[in-house]
Amino acid sequence: MRPYPRLVATRPHPLLLRSLLFRGASIAPASGVVSTFPSGTVRHSWPEIRDRVGHLAASLARAGVRPGDRVGTLLWNDHRHLELAFAVPCLGAAIHPANPRLSDADLEWTIRAAKDRFVFYDGEFDERIAALRLRLPEVERWIRCGSPATAASDPPSDSWEGFLGSGSDRFVWPDLDEDAPMAVCFTSGTTGHPKEIVYTQRSSYLHTLGLALTDTMNLSGTDVALAVVPIFHAISWGLPYAAAMLGASLVLPHRRSSGADLLATIESEQVTLAIGVPTVWSSLMQAAREATAAVNIRHLRRVVCGGGAPNLEMIGFFARQYGAELIHSWGMTEINPVGTMGRHAATAEELALDAADRRRIALKAGRPMPMLEVEVIDEGGQPVAHDDRTVGTLVVRGPTVRGGFASEDPSTLPGGWMPTGDVATIDDRGRVTIRDREKDLIKSGGEWISSLALERLIGAMPEVALVAVVARKDAKWEERPVAVVELAEGASLDLATLRARLAETLPAWQLPDDLVFRKIPLTGTGKMDKKALRAELG
Ligand code: ADP
Repeated sequence: MRPYPRLVATRPHPLLLRSLLFRGASIAPASGVVSTFPSGTVRHSWPEIRDRVGHLAASLARAGVRPGDRVGTLLWNDHRHLELAFAVPCLGAAIHPANPRLSDADLEWTIRAAKDRFVFYDGEFDERIAALRLRLPEVERWIRCGSPATAASDPPSDSWEGFLGSGSDRFVWPDLDEDAPMAVCFTSGTTGHPKEIVYTQRSSYLHTLGLALTDTMNLSGTDVALAVVPIFHAISWGLPYAAAMLGASLVLPHRRSSGADLLATIESEQVTLAIGVPTVWSSLMQAAREATAAVNIRHLRRVVCGGGAPNLEMIGFFARQYGAELIHSWGMTEINPVGTMGRHAATAEELALDAADRRRIALKAGRPMPMLEVEVIDEGGQPVAHDDRTVGTLVVRGPTVRGGFASEDPSTLPGGWMPTGDVATIDDRGRVTIRDREKDLIKSGGEWISSLALERLIGAMPEVALVAVVARKDAKWEERPVAVVELAEGASLDLATLRARLAETLPAWQLPDDLVFRKIPLTGTGKMDKKALRAELG
């Protein structure tokens, strides 16, 4: 990969993250960042965050962090992580938000691969860090951030406020090049070893602008945005930068937030927009159904569901219960990470449809973010017809793909197109539907069965809380589908009923051969770990 040597601005008015923070701080002093800890809620206004980020950047410089360095973090979502996500890039270094849900071996692997010089960690990880320190002597400094509940008893030099206070309030914000790396993120590894992806100031800046458009998620300074997505997953899909730019309030829920906790936070903070993966929204739906007292979350207007596909039941639930629009989004770490967004009506033509038809549109992953081109290609590399039916490999290109330097990666196709590993169709209005992952498709008797299509149909059945469909090896057909199901509280289901219901819409050869009841393993980012299920059941 390109070494990204340019750290000093080579063109005037570079696109830099610091200007996003400065803007929010100057226009919205009454909004800011809300961190919910199990012990209580901590609030900072955007001007306070800007000043704290300046202090922190000065502290980092004083501790020896230099432009071009990599700084690791092992933290959950709270203001400390957010402050690092601004201060490290504003200094010209790149933040590597490591995923605490990785195994010890993968965590060690990513910290080594990222070449982190410093690692900031939550006191919760004392034991893991003690072991990692021994195996990673190349990390020069491990800085314990403590936690608000224990900060007073931490040694001052190690506690967060202590470290922050060691800087000065005269930080000189350097003029960086917009191609300077600002973050190093790893793919979650659902299809293999984690891969390192570098985001630049420019790619993140453009991505931030894209998030704020009306036809993507319509974020504005009037919003209270809840980031259920962890910062260690592509910087919460970029939401913190967009909230800062607009001066929207940003709510960072603590990591043990259950569906019921999220409902309570949405109610108490009057959240208007929330982002998360499908499993998060399933748990919220479950909690809402079980709630004994009514929750008032009528402020909630939009729910962004990405990282996996929602089903019609989920889309209908948010519409019926709260009058909220579930916006389906597709993305991947490689592209900064949001790729498409599916507002229920993004054109005058869609606005004229009735509400049920508009909700069906949200089953599709939507249209590409501006700055991103998408195409579906066949095995010969040719674009397929945009007829909503012809499947092929989804390819993307643009300045948010691998920080704008995709063409320097050996897997990139001529013309700068990056293959995504997803199988998709495009309709005649440019809306993308993800049909499956290349690795999750089930090959039965020479024909392909989409595991995603089966999951959508089975997931919409009231008895089912969560479903994964995986391939099992078969002597005659090569592979056959198996449905792995977590049942809803008190429900029951059998294979014959499941097959009969699916047979209403699917041909017989696509129906699952088996139904297995068990807990579905999740990856570090809360996605169903089909790789693990295949290893077990395949
Ligand atoms: P990994 O590939 O290791 O899971 P990512 O977390 O970057 O890493 O996940 C990106 C992948 O997640 C996409 O390539 C796609 O397969 C899947 N994905 C993301 N959003 C959706 C969606 N809305 N519908 C279906 N699949 C999705």
